[in-house]
Amino acid sequence: FFLALEGGDGSGKTTQARLLAAWLEELGHEAVVTREPGGTATGRDVRALLLEHRDGPPLSPRAEALLFAADRAQHVAEVVRPGLRRGAVVLTDRYVDSSLAYQGAGRDLPASEVETLSRWATQGLLPDLTVVLDVDPTTAAQRRAGRAAEDRVEAEPGAFHARVREQFLLLAARAPERYLVLDATTSPEVVQAKLREHLAPLLPV
Ligand code: C5P
Ligand code: MG
Repeated sequence: FFLALEGGDGSGKTTQARLLAAWLEELGHEAVVTREPGGTATGRDVRALLLEHRDGPPLSPRAEALLFAADRAQHVAEVVRPGLRRGAVVLTDRYVDSSLAYQGAGRDLPASEVETLSRWATQGLLPDLTVVLDVDPTTAAQRRAGRAAEDRVEAEPGAFHARVREQFLLLAARAPERYLVLDATTSPEVVQAKLREHLAPLLPV
């Protein structure tokens, strides 16, 4: 079973993945918690290229999209597919929809082209379920400000993050059977409880 956690910066994806993994292990599943960018050794180098790039001319949106796609290709080949082949539940903190939201809507690259790039990188592997942890713009801005931008992308203006959020919601609305949208302004415990309730009947026995 392949689950992707998506949402803006500070929406609590990492916390939810960790809590979910603990529950899955209790149920007797192997849980693989992983992330993009940076789920592999190669990906960690790519992550540094992407996020620590601050001085000098900005990274071009197409170069950025290709680097995220390269990270994803390696991640799928090295971590996600092997995990799924073993029968593990693979939980990824970000996946294709992050590229559609950040490189597509955020950077204003054509969505269909970003999608084609991701499909090529992953050889068409899509999550069984994508969970969108949704946070309203005001709360999101407070959370980002509360921890000072950790990277170049987080430091983007509010309008950028607003486009990203709208794109996640749009993607979920287009294929509701493969998505779960949760209000992530409530407590992590409440979000986790809803997630488990939704996921329980979908898991393999
Ligand atoms: O989720 P995480 O904090 O690890 O993501 C690292 C940074 O990369 C974040 O600022 C996120 O917004 C950005 N990002 C992006 N495009 C993606 C995935 C992440 O701009 N496809
Ligand atoms: Mg971050």
